[in-house]
Amino acid sequence: MRGNMQGTYRNTLAEKLMSDSCCGKTIDVRALQARQRRVLVIVLVINAATFLMMVAAALQSGSSSLLSGGLDNFGDALTYALSLAVVGASGQAKARVALFKGALILAAAIAVALQIAWQLTHPGVPLFETIGIAALINLAANLVCLRLLNPYRSGDVNMTSAWECSRNDVGEGVAVLFAAIGVWWFEAAWPDLVIAAVLLLMFLRSARRVLGSAWRELQIVTH
Ligand SMILES: [Zn+2]
Repeated sequence: MRGNMQGTYRNTLAEKLMSDSCCGKTIDVRALQARQRRVLVIVLVINAATFLMMVAAALQSGSSSLLSGGLDNFGDALTYALSLAVVGASGQAKARVALFKGALILAAAIAVALQIAWQLTHPGVPLFETIGIAALINLAANLVCLRLLNPYRSGDVNMTSAWECSRNDVGEGVAVLFAAIGVWWFEAAWPDLVIAAVLLLMFLRSARRVLGSAWRELQIVTH
């Protein structure tokens, strides 16, 4: 009896953790209406453009938090693109695509970790003006995505997960803005590095969860 209850508890805990993980979940586009798909395409384009903008600004300013924040936009754009690409594919093909996505995300995360390590060993204050402007553009882009997804926040489970993801992105956007304010206030690099490390850890946590479920799915469909 006790073991049974523990098992049930573990299941609901797993469900709760799954629902908390927002970004990175493959979206079942087949279940969506044309208008919902169109919204996903727009959100995908915004995320891809913001990712490129953040990488460029990160290189120009020497900011790790911009690169770390851009990592999430990269993951989101990839998720939407692959979700739209695998419509109607078999379960095995979908799981393979999910693993491929996981590998790309992990490679990008390693690049960000290396950049943080580089900044730690090569001290210098990043340009807070660039971080601030890029952070504001990023935040505005995230708010536009949230507004676009807002009408679909309840109803279809796929759109709800996209909305939850977008809501978390707004929080991350605010964090990057705090990095800019911190660098300006303290005239030091550490606020940028702290925010970068926190964002990277959060990102890795959800990436691990997404990869784990893709791996399990692949095990199920191949056996
Ligand atoms: Zn996201």
